[in-house]
Amino acid sequence: MGVQRHSLSRYRRWLQAGFFILFVVAPPLDVFRYDLTLGHFIVLGRPWTLGLDALISGDISAPRAVANVIVRGFLPVLLVGAALIWTAWRYGRLYCGWLCPHFSVVETVNALMQRASGKPSIWESQPLPARRPDGRTVLPDGRYWLLTVPLAAAFAFLWALSLLSYLLPPFEIYHNLLNASLTGNQARFLGIGTLLFFIDFMFARHLFCRFGCAVGLFQSLAWMANPRALVVGFDSSRARSCQACNNACDNACPMRLRPRTIKRRMFTCTECTQCISACEQVQADNPAGGLLQWVDDAHAIPVATGRSIRPRSGKAVADY
Ligand code: SF4
Ligand code: SF4
Repeated sequence: MGVQRHSLSRYRRWLQAGFFILFVVAPPLDVFRYDLTLGHFIVLGRPWTLGLDALISGDISAPRAVANVIVRGFLPVLLVGAALIWTAWRYGRLYCGWLCPHFSVVETVNALMQRASGKPSIWESQPLPARRPDGRTVLPDGRYWLLTVPLAAAFAFLWALSLLSYLLPPFEIYHNLLNASLTGNQARFLGIGTLLFFIDFMFARHLFCRFGCAVGLFQSLAWMANPRALVVGFDSSRARSCQACNNACDNACPMRLRPRTIKRRMFTCTECTQCISACEQVQADNPAGGLLQWVDDAHAIPVATGRSIRPRSGKAVADY
């Protein structure tokens, strides 16, 4: 059945912010990290080892060691992977759109770049319309570059620092950083990491999400395998309502997709609902509401096959 429309953006922003904070504080709080100096994971404050040292010292038998490897090694990886794939199969790339700390940066930098130049990325051929879905006119203001570039650099540094703290004792890194006493390898990791993330955040952030991220790719593949999975559906019977609109849904999409199209052309959709929210704002005075909504089960099948988005003329709405 069709999924009832809600304004979900606020909850999504809170979830994204919460997960981003968790991503940064998980190592110093020992929630999750791999300690290279100790040679094992730390999960919820406790060492998470395969117990092979005990086998070598003769404290446990070989069958017990095999059981340890299965229970502490394969099983957790399998469970996390299965949960991610099942969620994607049923609901699409929810992890990307609602939690991923990279996608939070994508959306933040997109918004700032659009404010600065009218384009959400430097690869956009034309500036997007100044008229926003809520009716406001927002003209580009070059001064926003003074915020965009330093913020992208700050995110890049935070990402590099966080990744390093997943591998080495976090407080040692913070102490070395504050006292300018990083080791050569630590300084190189932070320097090169910050540079690479800065290039990514400034020039290739959605390209990475679309083509470079294995977690995203496997979610997309699982989602495509289920024609009944949650997907953004377009009410083509009301396509006339789009004539007075400046393609607000297309303009709002952080992945630069066209939400009124068939599912396989939305292969990298992150279920972020930005397009749905944009249309709800455009159609705020329309008693029938927006033309886009989440659909699933039987309602999702036409989106997967392309039948529902073709008006009588046979011309695909997405090709307008
Ligand atoms: S679906 Fe909504 S937001 Fe998209 S073009 Fe039509 S009216 Fe505009
Ligand atoms: S198509 Fe809509 S839900 Fe999917 S990524 Fe674009 S804006 Fe988000």
